Amino acid sequence: MRRVLAAAIAALTVTTAGAAATADPGQAAARSGWGRPALAPAAPTPGDPGLGDSYFPDYGNGGYDVDHYDIRLRYEPATDQLSGTTTILARATQDLSRFNLDFLLDVESVRVNGFSATFAREGVHELAITAPRPIVRGQSLTIVVKYAGVPSETLVNGYSGWTRTADGGLAVNEPESAWWWYPSNDHPLDKANWDVSVSVPAGVEVLSNGVQPRPPLAEAGNRMRWSWRSTSPGATYESFLAVGQYDIVTDTAPNGQPVVNAYSTSLGALGPAARASIERTAEIVDWESTIFGPYPFEAQGGVAGPVDGIGFALETQTRPVYGPGFWRRGSNTYVVVHENAHQWFGASVSVADWRHIWLNEGFASYAEWLWSEEQGEGTAQELFDFTYATYPADDEFWQVTPGDPGADNVFDGAVYDRGAMALHQLRLAVGDDAFFRILPQWTAAHRHGNGTVEQFQALAEQVSGQDLNAVFTTWLFTKGRPELSGSAAARTATAPAEPKSWARLRESHRLLAH
Ligand SMILES: [Zn+2]
Repeated sequence: MRRVLAAAIAALTVTTAGAAATADPGQAAARSGWGRPALAPAAPTPGDPGLGDSYFPDYGNGGYDVDHYDIRLRYEPATDQLSGTTTILARATQDLSRFNLDFLLDVESVRVNGFSATFAREGVHELAITAPRPIVRGQSLTIVVKYAGVPSETLVNGYSGWTRTADGGLAVNEPESAWWWYPSNDHPLDKANWDVSVSVPAGVEVLSNGVQPRPPLAEAGNRMRWSWRSTSPGATYESFLAVGQYDIVTDTAPNGQPVVNAYSTSLGALGPAARASIERTAEIVDWESTIFGPYPFEAQGGVAGPVDGIGFALETQTRPVYGPGFWRRGSNTYVVVHENAHQWFGASVSVADWRHIWLNEGFASYAEWLWSEEQGEGTAQELFDFTYATYPADDEFWQVTPGDPGADNVFDGAVYDRGAMALHQLRLAVGDDAFFRILPQWTAAHRHGNGTVEQFQALAEQVSGQDLNAVFTTWLFTKGRPELSGSAAARTATAPAEPKSWARLRESHRLLAH
């Protein structure tokens, strides 16, 4: 995961007022029932242009909850021209005079429940929509947006979340990626499932999340239409689109699920290392399932992106996308472990607010430590000791608090490495028995939902029967290198031996964090 320029974007945009910071739109809808309130109706009001995220307050929108996106597109790799229609099935969670979507491409028309609606661009990425008829709380909404544009040339602060490549393009980014290919309620609080259908010239491949409900269909003009379907609820940043020249390998996982892996034909000499890593996805997911609980999605896989694509990797739901840099030193199962751990920690249990990013990156990084232990390449304790000794007490590394790193530091290296250290300290505090009960209980309790660091601490305390405030405060929320005592202090006082997995972990985190 990686986010680019999010902080700069947030700083530029207007801060929204009055958004309910902790409201889950779905829960709000459920609480409100289906009809109008019994009391005298108040005048409809505008939906908030954000969901009140503490780091990115105008990401997502208030006043409605999306159930489904039907994204039907046409794409020209030669020109990067993207056009199409997205149909959004949603439900109003308040009486609405207007509402917003997050989107950047040029909009041709918007219809709400069949009626033509007026629309206007506001702020950096807001599309404000006013329907001709009033919208009442609980009402079903069918929002049809027709649009077109060249996503790689649609810039925010000089930046596009869409990566154009020699053979196509990639919509892969965190937290901002949907803006460049479909209109959405772009915050993990509003989960939905989605269908993606893209028409491309014959001979071009299209990858996305989930399963293929049907094989690619021939269309007029020597074109093919590819279809993908996500049947589990997902956050918008977990969706992706990859168009280009790919070799696709399909298989069945030990749990019976479809596996779809794809390898850019541009990888050349990097191809075998990519395959030797990503082809182990089903094995790794199987292993992770024994630690984190049942795999939460309907399909598995991975996409090895092209040499001129992204420089990072992202845990896109059911099918992470990897940049080419991970294969330059040979095969790398650690990044596959990291991105697939995010299927539990990030994709299924998503942050309720971006300040809780430790729930994603700390856990995915600790999964790598557990894999190192499993592979006999260094125990989690050895990795903890070496990490601790690697960063002197006066290193800036210790100035970022993973529990609330700040909007500028969401993907700082400390969120990964100190984040993993924090989990290791929790494990030491509660013991292996409790620790390995806490993890699957957490993924079960918040499956396909959202979570906060405070909720995780409460669960850990409930399972262990211990007050863990000191561990969480020290390792997640206090600047500076925590003091160790006893044998731990002695082990880290002299330079510990470098675990075998260290160099590989270092290299991967250098690409993932920034
Ligand atoms: Zn990650």
